[in-house]
Amino acid sequence: MAVSRVCLHRFSLSISSIPPYISHLRPRIRHFAAVSASSHSTPNSTSTDITTTPPPSPRPRWKPMCLYFTQSLCTKMDDLAHLNAFSHTFSEELNINAAADMKHVRPQQFDHFLVLDLEGKVEILEFPVLMIDAKTLAVVDFFHRFVRPSEMGEQRINQYIEGKYGKIGVQSVWHDTAIPFTEVIKQFEDWMAKHQLWAREYGGHLNKAAFITCGNWDIKTKIPEQCKVSRMKTPSYFMEWINLKDIYLNFYKRRASGMMTMMRELHMPLVGSHHLGIDDTKNITRVLRRLINDGAVLQITAQRNSTGSVEFLFENRIR
Ligand SMILES: [Zn+2]
Repeated sequence: MAVSRVCLHRFSLSISSIPPYISHLRPRIRHFAAVSASSHSTPNSTSTDITTTPPPSPRPRWKPMCLYFTQSLCTKMDDLAHLNAFSHTFSEELNINAAADMKHVRPQQFDHFLVLDLEGKVEILEFPVLMIDAKTLAVVDFFHRFVRPSEMGEQRINQYIEGKYGKIGVQSVWHDTAIPFTEVIKQFEDWMAKHQLWAREYGGHLNKAAFITCGNWDIKTKIPEQCKVSRMKTPSYFMEWINLKDIYLNFYKRRASGMMTMMRELHMPLVGSHHLGIDDTKNITRVLRRLINDGAVLQITAQRNSTGSVEFLFENRIR
């Protein structure tokens, strides 16, 4: 989680919310409704026309991400109204001007960065990763899954999801798509193998790549905790990572408690919803990109040894 003590600011959207009765409509509409709901801050607001295309605006309108698309599950790629309402690419937000100002850029030790931002305090609920080319800073690919807790009853899951995702309206898509953590890890390893980032048969660290997180919590604490709950060994590629807050501290000589503080100090507006993991990975990527463009060299900041204890490699770090 990209934790911050700063109030969150949301972009206002020009499409209206889906009323509660939509869940009784036929599956095709439900798909749309759930994705629509994923973008709205006021789930209880009324009136909508899901077939109407919004009037043209003078500049490109920000669109919420289709959260079925991010999980390779969108079945509406030929539906114009759906495509008009929801983004089905990362390039609009992240690849424009990726390499706009690279005169201070220094060579990196890695070919790729994997920006990871887990959500879920009790058990992991969301596992989003953006794969960034370390030279061009473009988004190469992404992996995103909602995760179903393994040790909770249905009623508790429903309360947990309502509390976590209800206010940003993504509970329907979560219920439609969430799968167990063990299955997420299996699919994630297949995805990494496809990109030659890691291979099951060799094990060990990532291949010329490093995880980027905002804080140590994600990989130091939550991954081993979830692995224990899911009765699996902590995978070998989760043994080292880069905490962007420590890079930020050592490069700019300023302490930032979280993603929102870094973004505020760098005069970057928030994209999407804070604490929707896939949106947080985009915002962390924008901070990462700025650091690299300003001349930072990304180095591993923490390592876990075979006994499970973690060593921090930077003297100056956020505690
Ligand atoms: Zn879609």
